[in-house]
Amino acid sequence: MTTKIAVLGSTGSIGTQTLDVARMHGIKVTALTANRNIELLEKQAREFSPDMVCVLDTGAAAQLKIALKDTNIDVYCGEQGIIEAACEKSCDTVVNAIVGVAGLLPTLAAIDAGKNLALANKETLVAGGSIVMRAVKEKGVKLYPVDSEHSAIFQCLQGCPEGSLKKVILTASGGAFFGKKRWELENVSVKKALQHPNWNMGAKITIDSATMMNKGLEVIEASWLFDCRDEDIDVLIHRESIIHSMIQLKDNAVIAQLGVPDMRIPIQYALTYPERLPSPTKELDLTELTNLTFYKPDYDTFQCLAICRKALRKGGLYPTVANAANEVAVDLFMKEKIKFLDIASVVSDEVESFGDDRKEITLDDILSADKETRRRIKEKY
Ligand code: NDP
Repeated sequence: MTTKIAVLGSTGSIGTQTLDVARMHGIKVTALTANRNIELLEKQAREFSPDMVCVLDTGAAAQLKIALKDTNIDVYCGEQGIIEAACEKSCDTVVNAIVGVAGLLPTLAAIDAGKNLALANKETLVAGGSIVMRAVKEKGVKLYPVDSEHSAIFQCLQGCPEGSLKKVILTASGGAFFGKKRWELENVSVKKALQHPNWNMGAKITIDSATMMNKGLEVIEASWLFDCRDEDIDVLIHRESIIHSMIQLKDNAVIAQLGVPDMRIPIQYALTYPERLPSPTKELDLTELTNLTFYKPDYDTFQCLAICRKALRKGGLYPTVANAANEVAVDLFMKEKIKFLDIASVVSDEVESFGDDRKEITLDDILSADKETRRRIKEKY
């Protein structure tokens, strides 16, 4: 079991819930990082007394340095500072709860420093799955999924013989607009898209859930974590978010993991694996549930899911491009510069027009495909 963690993105939804788990089980926190929320970071630093904290924003870091001058905590800034946090020498596990592809280099740095990873930052695997999984293997570190679906699959697989997996069944809540058709989504507001039925999460992943890009990213994430092809991964809409995902084995037995929708269960499992410790979450009372429903996804309305599947089949840099396009498009939508349905169009345009079919790719290829995609879209809007 993990005893010392560095939490990258500690001020976000996953980051704060990770600290709940650390608080409950007395896990030592050695480093904390944020983008610019220094009020919360200072509070966390005073409670957990890490060796270091880092803020991406230089101005905010200078302010935090002054605020923490009565402590022994070192204050770093910038991308390099976050990488230092990922390599902090005394921690054994790095929890990567950064949002977006900004999490990729810290992930690689943590692996290179021999740290185990509790990975929430799915964009790391979508953009750089091949190099991340290779580095994990070469360094012999462990990668524990935090995403609830992938944690569910990981939990279901415990005790299954190698080679017995036939299919992964990823469940999806369907997001804010389940059941709607394209014409009904033409003018939806940012506020409406941010209303997730079951989970309280950061803004980007909530929009990704509304477009179902999130499930597309998760299909790609699952392909790397469980060594599956696109056709081995089913997506099933399950509105209640009680079954967090399932596996189907070669004999057609289906194993599911159930629980109340609370991220502290998968976060804790990633930190305490293989132990099962008491959790601050509510017990699941099946008699309170009137119904568990399942539907096929609507690929015509929620086109991001189909685009991600296509990017996965094309391989190479296509998932990197899909991810970068989505990050920019979501930002443009939240700034009300494009409409909701434009998110899928932006991602689709980039994937369809991308012509680099190389399968063997390097970190430099990934970083430059990410940068170029962002540049192209920003030029248009
Ligand atoms: P949030 O937006 O709530 O938090 C993101 C964290 O990352 C914050 O600490 C933020 O700092 C920091 N951050 C933002 N931008 C950068 C950057 N460019 N460089 C470094 N740090 C940055 O996100 P979530 O917690 O919702 O999601 C985090 C990751 O976990 C995502 O990849 C998401 O897909 C995944 N995930 C989230 C789930 C959830 O329930 N929330 C469920 C499953 C997966 P600041 O606060 O200062 O902005």
